[in-house]
Amino acid sequence: ATPTSIMAGSGRAAEFGILFKGGEHLEATHKIDTILLDKTGTVTNGTPELTDVRIAQGYEENELLQLVASAERLSEHPLAQALVAGIKNKGIEIQDPLSFEAIPGYGVKATVQERKLLVGTRKLMNQHKVNIDTALEEMTNLEREGKTAMLVALDGKYAGMLAVADTIKATSKEAVSRLKEMGLEVMMITGDNRQTAQAIGMQAGIEHVIAEVLPEGKAEEVKKLQQQGKKVAMVGDGINDAPALALADIGMAIGTGTDVAMEAADITLMRGDLMSIADAIEMSRKTISNIK
Ligand code: ADP
Ligand code: MG
Repeated sequence: ATPTSIMAGSGRAAEFGILFKGGEHLEATHKIDTILLDKTGTVTNGTPELTDVRIAQGYEENELLQLVASAERLSEHPLAQALVAGIKNKGIEIQDPLSFEAIPGYGVKATVQERKLLVGTRKLMNQHKVNIDTALEEMTNLEREGKTAMLVALDGKYAGMLAVADTIKATSKEAVSRLKEMGLEVMMITGDNRQTAQAIGMQAGIEHVIAEVLPEGKAEEVKKLQQQGKKVAMVGDGINDAPALALADIGMAIGTGTDVAMEAADITLMRGDLMSIADAIEMSRKTISNIK
């Protein structure tokens, strides 16, 4: 590989908002055969909105919403921000929790006005022995629509559920089909539940979905693919994508995402849409074929 053609290639890529950290990455990118896309903020816009509220019998909606927003206000998770914004919009006042704990990949645990709250996944409820039998059917229905449903427990009892919807980026579907036409295998990975992930995958044209992965598990999935002989490009935006971005053969960070992701990645996609992945690989392929 001549340094001049690599430099020319990097320069051209930069004009398209594709920033390679070093020439070696431009070269390595042409070998990629598998694209692993993070869901939230990568395939989707990452700005979910509150769409549904279900209250269990014996609970009062405004009171429950106030407790949930107060529990979530200290969480930096996009889901928490969606809940807080949606509840504030209903004109409900929010308080400071007495205690707050984020449980990555599961949800939050908080004390608000002496009441113990849990907000999050089925697993979070199971871990705390909250009976959620009456909620499960409704939850699955919401998830089949591609929504993320979060269960709420109050003092150890199921009290309601809130759902948020995130939309796929305008270009995600077209980009996925372009990547497939280029001969690449496209997969999606997420901590979200299987039903929601598959519904979003379907919207974007991605059949292969790895769901319910805990924050530390994404890098593990990259390693498994590499052990199958695949050359993996991981694409992500979040703090919990960083280890996978670093381990992948090529890490691509979405420029609108977190600094941590950009630091761990080999390439930053400033435009933030998935078309740039195809552009990056095409430019790398062209640069290499010019050299040869
Ligand atoms: P993602 O990979 O989509 O960013 P995470 O691994 O961060 O997902 O979270 C997995 C799941 O845990 C979420 O889909 C949600 O159900 C639950 N969860 C995480 N954080 C919160 C929170 N602050 N409030 C409620 N639920 C949460
Ligand atoms: Mg993300």
